[in-house]
Amino acid sequence: MKYEVILIGGGPVGMMLAGELALAGVKVCVIERLKETTPYSRALTVHPRTLEILDMRGVKSQLISQGRLLSRGHFAGLEAPLDFTVLDSSSNHTLFLPQSETEKVLEEWALSLGAEVWREVEALSVHQDEDGVDVKIAGPHGETTLRSAYVVGTDGARSLVRKHANISFEGTDATFTAILGMPFYLIWLL
Ligand SMILES: Cc1cc2nc3c(=O)[nH]c(=O)nc-3n(C[C@H](O)[C@H](O)[C@H](O)COP(=O)(O)OP(=O)(O)OC[C@H]3O[C@@H](n4cnc5c(N)ncnc54)[C@H](O)[C@@H]3O)c2cc1C
Repeated sequence: MKYEVILIGGGPVGMMLAGELALAGVKVCVIERLKETTPYSRALTVHPRTLEILDMRGVKSQLISQGRLLSRGHFAGLEAPLDFTVLDSSSNHTLFLPQSETEKVLEEWALSLGAEVWREVEALSVHQDEDGVDVKIAGPHGETTLRSAYVVGTDGARSLVRKHANISFEGTDATFTAILGMPFYLIWLL
């Protein structure tokens, strides 16, 4: 097997895990259907504990140079305002940075450690047997099947991997639909 682990999905979770596995010497490949990082960011806030971990991996300073540190804010839109300065941490702040920028830095980091990222490639199915996993993929050169010892579903909320592994979605359906926009003054802040 060329890869020990295939990660399906190259969002922030896939790129971070790819870097962690590569750092541990694991042969890892990320399958991502998008040609490049989406410019449409959902997340804008990187929280203190995440920053601590990114600091341990040496990528925090690069992220900070592109964003803005904030000492107060919210968590997940909850009403209670939070003061991060009380934290006993060198990351006692959040970082205001669009998710697209965070993803690019994490991808560069994973690549620098030897992870491979296959873009414009979509996973179509996942089938596990006693010795490993077959992943059927489709890309610019047609369809083929990759085999690895492990597959990780880092493919987001509508995860194909979760469905093919017969893992149920324990939760509730969305209760509202929203459109996220960035006011001009926030763009100016960056
Ligand atoms: C409005 C909004 C605001 C948010 N704000 C914040 C915030 O401020 N801070 C914060 O920490 N979090 C925030 N979040 C949550 C954050 O965006 C998610 O936790 C994060 O995107 C999850 O990352 P992920 O890598 O698991 O999945 P995703 O970001 O969904 O990435 C999954 C990737 O898998 C790829 N993929 C999917 N299926 C396949 C397939 N079959 N083959 C190949 N590739 C595939 C997709 O193209 C995508 O690139 C917010 C979410 C929303 C909706």
